[in-house]
Amino acid sequence: MKRIVNFSAGPATLPLAVLEQVQAELLDWRGSGMSVMEMSHRDKEFMSIAQDAEKDLREIAGIPANYKVLFLQGGATGQFTFLPMNLLRGKTGFDYVLTGDWGKKAAKEAGKYGKVNIAASSEADKFTRIPDVKTWKLDPNAAYVHITPNETIHGVEFHQEPETNGVPLVADMSSNILSRPIDISKYGLIYAGAQKNIGPSGITIVIVREDLIGQAVPSTPGIFDYKQMADNESMLNTPPCFSWYVSGLVFKWIKENGGLAGIGERNARKAAALYDYIDSQDFYRNPVAKADRSRMNIPFTLANAELDADFLKGAKAAGLSGLKGHRSVGGMRASIYNAMTQEGVNALIEYMKEFARTKG
Ligand code: PMP
Repeated sequence: MKRIVNFSAGPATLPLAVLEQVQAELLDWRGSGMSVMEMSHRDKEFMSIAQDAEKDLREIAGIPANYKVLFLQGGATGQFTFLPMNLLRGKTGFDYVLTGDWGKKAAKEAGKYGKVNIAASSEADKFTRIPDVKTWKLDPNAAYVHITPNETIHGVEFHQEPETNGVPLVADMSSNILSRPIDISKYGLIYAGAQKNIGPSGITIVIVREDLIGQAVPSTPGIFDYKQMADNESMLNTPPCFSWYVSGLVFKWIKENGGLAGIGERNARKAAALYDYIDSQDFYRNPVAKADRSRMNIPFTLANAELDADFLKGAKAAGLSGLKGHRSVGGMRASIYNAMTQEGVNALIEYMKEFARTKG
């Protein structure tokens, strides 16, 4: 068996220790005589898996008691679609801050339920920075302010929470959740698809302040109503049990690896190594404003785009995969989530150096 170094933006690489544990208990989960895939979600075995996962997530992320943790389906796209109907709460509209394509898509969905105020946008700068918070035109009556703390395609990340003057802050944390310590109390609602820093695709985490749910617009289907899901421990219907289980193992792996503080330090070191190299030469370039660069997704271009195919081919031969940039921006992108090792990042840097030396 030879595993590649996987820089895919998502589904993304998972911790090897977690995969090995899944493999070891695949056919017989802890003496139950069956795989987690075969368990009833109502049996005590799966209930213990589900409850442990929530307990560990609450512990590592420091989730206060007045927040519900939901394990849902529909991906992040599902959540930014269900979010406006759940959180409108008798208001007339929402504030969206656009720092990339995901926020833009989310704003479009919200427009079906109320007036969308684009409080700020960096689209004119091709989403290469976070608009200065002082220039945001926030509506004090908005149902919430929506941000995308890490824009996966553009590699732009918030490094602190914006002040929203009492209006709930809602965040699509799909690509940077659990990547460093976080103050949950600054948010009204956080949602994230699992397939980057949490586990396999299929499950989506929502962390929501209790007082914000229970007022969904009346036409909200029960299955998309956060209050009904909360009241039913996320099991109004059959949940994605296997993804939930693997996510729980990833939470334990985070606990054993220094918690979010330890994870955050390692992520900072990995990103710094790659950015330092990119900034030290002229062949590769990252277009994002330095203060707003992502520690998770690092896009870069080559001096000559005609070399892109060669770069990818050589990378593949060197065991480095998933580096092609998103089709909307081109170039390359290295996604270096929690499970990417420093050795993996170092191998990429060495390959980039060698490629630039021979082709540059
Ligand atoms: N938001 C962000 C920030 C993302 O990175 C992605 C997926 N790459 C999505 C939303 C969409 O996620 P899903 O495919 O789970 O709907």
